[in-house]
Amino acid sequence: MVENIIWRPSPNYDQRGSGTPIDMLVLHYTGMPTANGALDRLTDEASKVSAHYLVREDGQILALVKEEMRAWHAGVASWRGADNINARSIGVEIVNPGHEFGYRAFPAEQMVAVTALANGIVTRHAIPARNVVGHSDVAPDRKEDPGELFPWQALARTGVGLWYAEDTVVSQECISLASGEQGANVFAVQKALKEIGYHVVVNGIYDAKLTNIVRAFQRHWRPSCVDGNADEETQAIIYAVLAEVRRLT
Ligand SMILES: [Zn+2]
Repeated sequence: MVENIIWRPSPNYDQRGSGTPIDMLVLHYTGMPTANGALDRLTDEASKVSAHYLVREDGQILALVKEEMRAWHAGVASWRGADNINARSIGVEIVNPGHEFGYRAFPAEQMVAVTALANGIVTRHAIPARNVVGHSDVAPDRKEDPGELFPWQALARTGVGLWYAEDTVVSQECISLASGEQGANVFAVQKALKEIGYHVVVNGIYDAKLTNIVRAFQRHWRPSCVDGNADEETQAIIYAVLAEVRRLT
């Protein structure tokens, strides 16, 4: 358990619904110019938004909603065929101005706190590694958070979330795919992304929705280039992540 959590209640929650398991952890950035502005919004009854926790850049953790209640953080979202994401998840807001107001690295002190908090959450609720996701993974058309600067790989090394076996990523002579393309290779990429958990329409067409999903995938697992094109390395990592998902399932 993390020490020194300050209770700062938000009115923006309700019941989860009986029988709904808590089996996801959704990470966000606040995406506002200041931490206090974000805290005000997450605790303002009029905003109708909240999260279970807010982690400041200095590592201070604020608890806003009790874990057994449903916080309102994900909005319209989907993962592994489920769309009741708020009902089944714990939501953590991580202070960062985000892409709109000056996206910057998450400080070490903040990540120490996020790591300890997240380890406690996944242990308490037995949340599977493949269900530790970013807001952009569950809402790729609308969201970019926590974004490509979030250290998913380092977090996974501590036992939170899924990373792939890097030695299995080999360039497979596959074709680089981009918006507008069609065919069997697009179909295969869509099928893989769907099995990982993304809300993909498997139609063999590289449309705007697939571009957004590939961009979300890249922010999480291939952050060196986030452009929505399934280049060879991105495809190889998609299949490596899928292999890890299957290995753990
Ligand atoms: Zn978010």
